[in-house]
Order: sequence, then structure tokens, then C-alpha cells
Amino acid sequence: MRAVKNLLVLYTGGTIGMLQTPEGLAPAGGFEARMRAWLDAHPEAPRPDWRLQEMSPLLDSANMQQGNWLAMRDAIVEAVKQDGHDGVLLLHGTDTLAYSAAALSFLLLGLDVPVVLTGSMLPAGAPDSDAWDNLAGALALFSQGLENGVQLFFAGKLMSGVRASKLRSEAFDAFAALPRHREGERAAELPTTLSYCQPRSPVNLAVLPMYPGIQAAHVRALLETGIKGLLLECYGSGTGPSDDEALLDALRDAGQRGVLVAAISQCMEGSVVFDIYEAGSRLRDTGLVSGGGMTREAALGKMFGLLGAGLDLATARHWFALDMCGERA
Ligand code: ASP
Repeated sequence: MRAVKNLLVLYTGGTIGMLQTPEGLAPAGGFEARMRAWLDAHPEAPRPDWRLQEMSPLLDSANMQQGNWLAMRDAIVEAVKQDGHDGVLLLHGTDTLAYSAAALSFLLLGLDVPVVLTGSMLPAGAPDSDAWDNLAGALALFSQGLENGVQLFFAGKLMSGVRASKLRSEAFDAFAALPRHREGERAAELPTTLSYCQPRSPVNLAVLPMYPGIQAAHVRALLETGIKGLLLECYGSGTGPSDDEALLDALRDAGQRGVLVAAISQCMEGSVVFDIYEAGSRLRDTGLVSGGGMTREAALGKMFGLLGAGLDLATARHWFALDMCGERA
């Protein structure tokens, strides 16, 4: 834990800085001046020295794509390695904040600075907004001292970047890191091929929940799009319609085509333990890798970190099953 002295505030958009337009709230520039004005009016609020950088374009985070994760990763690495910043506060829309936090956790492995993501449910300046509380709370944490790695700070709670999800759309306390069964051996050492230095490229990934009515044809249609990774959100402890041979065949074919097929639980407090039910073991036997108790956000971000680095299927399966930064253990 060390106090940050030279903070980069990276502003990506989101409700926190949005202004009203005829079509509704939309991202707006000029947040640095508003933040300075608020801090000047609150000299008692602890904060390290900081400068603000705006990403371009500013986004409603509903529009975030893998390319934006890579752009954020580049801006953070440049700020640390070239400009000497020793901490980064990322201001981000809440809709996909947990996805970005998870993806960045894998894209920034080995970068020895704290990175905290925050945002707000109401715009800064709106009556009763949570914006300045979240921002000032995060600044105070940086000046007190934070562990290296990616975390999320919201409504007074500091959460691991690979454990949090947005649970609520109409409450200030929008994020939580729910208890999920943790399992997975911690990787002793991470290879340089998976560190922040490794360039990544966008990769075609899909997430598919199990639901009564899912068909082999649905899985096959996804495979036809050329996906390289398929994250299945199974029922409960990792089950699915295991008496549907056509569906099992489609999953088996996916693995044979070189697709990383992994399973997580669709229960917010669940985890995959295939062997509990025959309906789970039969799915596992198609070649699925267990994502244990990983959240959707963490599992998707991890798939991107692994496959986006160009790993072959066997190596990606190996790392997916190990704990790399607290996502499983
Ligand atoms: N739609 C907004 C966004 O994700 C919601 C928010 O920031 O709270 O950018």
C-alpha cells in the first residue's frame, strides 16, 4: 500500500460528466474544469496532485467495445511508463464499468500501480447526485494508499476489479462483489506473454445463457459467425439440457474447431461444479472448461486477455482454469 502522489484521472464519459440533451443524457467534455471548481470549493477533501485526460470519443459506456478497452490500457500504460503517474482513476459509465474493470485487470497484469474505476448514477451537478461523493471518496483512497491492481470504488465500497457486477440500475449502491465459491489454483508466476506488455487484438467472443428452449441450431449459428470463445452461462452448479444430444454435439464441435468453450453459473451467487449432477458431467464431457465462480464480466475479460494475446486453444484453456489475479480464488 502506498499513497499516490501523481494521479492521472482518465475520463472516458459516463453519467458522471453527462449533460441533458433533447434525446436524453449524453457524454460531455470539459469535466476537468468542473472537477477543479468542485475541489477548489472543498479544500478539506484529500487528493493527490492530479491531471485529467479525456478519452476520445467520450462514451456512454453502453457503447464500449474491446477496442475501447485496448485504448484505455494504452493510455494507462503510457501515463505510467512515459509520464511518471503512479496511480490512475478511471471515470467510466456504470453500465459496463464492471466489464471494463475486469478486462483491464487482465490487460494490466504486472503494471505496478493502483487503478480505480468509478462513476455515478446521477450526473455531477444534478440534485442529490452521488458523483462528487464517489469521486472525492476515490481521491481520498489514492492519497491514503491503495494496493496495486485494478479495483472499483462505488458508494463507499472498494471492490476487486474481477469480482464486481452492476446489480442495480436505480440505486446509488449499484455495484457488489457477491460471494461466490472460489476455486482454482493460483498461478505461481505469470508469463510475459500475458503481462501488460503483450499487445492484444480484438477477438470474436460470444456469451450465451442456457434457457429452456435453447437449441443446437442456436449454438451452431454462433459458431458460423467465427467466434473464438464461447462463454456459456449454465444453470445452478453448471448444468444444462444434457439429454439434448444435438446440443452436446454442437458444443463438442465447437471445441474441435478450436473455440474456447467455458462455463460459468448464471446464478449471481453460484459457481460451476460439473460433477454434482449428471446434467453437469455430460456438459463437461463435451470439453467445456469450468469458470468456477467467475462472474460473467471476469470470464469475458479473461477470455479476451488470453485469446486476444493470440494464445492457442490448449494454452488458453490452461490459463483459463488457473487463478491469475483473484478472479477464481
Ligand atoms: N448509460 C450510462 C453509462 O454507462 C450509465 C451510467 O453511467 O450510469 O455511460
